[in-house]
Amino acid sequence: MSRTFSIIKPDATKRNLTGSINKKIEESNLKIIAQKRIKLSKDQAQGFYAVHKEKSFFNELIEYMTSAPVVVQVLEGENAVNLYRELMGSTNPKDAKVGTIRNEFAIDIQENSVHGSDSDENAKIEIDYFFNNEEIVG
Ligand code: ATP
Ligand code: MG
Repeated sequence: MSRTFSIIKPDATKRNLTGSINKKIEESNLKIIAQKRIKLSKDQAQGFYAVHKEKSFFNELIEYMTSAPVVVQVLEGENAVNLYRELMGSTNPKDAKVGTIRNEFAIDIQENSVHGSDSDENAKIEIDYFFNNEEIVG
């Protein structure tokens, strides 16, 4: 069993898609072991996406991620990081396979509905960024 960190992004919470996305997560054998709906501050969003701070789309990304509530989650399952990356589909929904969350729900390369950690190491860092131990009850 391993864990990954997920965000249901503003484009999805605004369109009332939290339940639809959670259904796909649960159907793919990932268990939502922690979850909360929060509004990211600018500082939180900049810290979370610090690896992208030199990219041309950084400011736009921070605007978007702070534009409406997000749902942050801890997901658990076998090979959770890779399983969830597969379920999410490609960053650009135009390239995302049929059946993936981004194929079904994403609007474009920025408003792409979900985030998922890209390694076990980053999953741990990202989970610790948003959750303390008491909030993860299994
Ligand atoms: P995430 O990290 O959110 O799970 P990802 O790993 O598929 O997505 P990254 O390359 O890490 O993609 O980009 C982080 C986020 O920045 C993307 O999910 C998207 O919201 C936004 N983004 C990425 N590339 C672009 C771009 N070319 N134009 C606008 N926004 C972008
Ligand atoms: Mg990424």
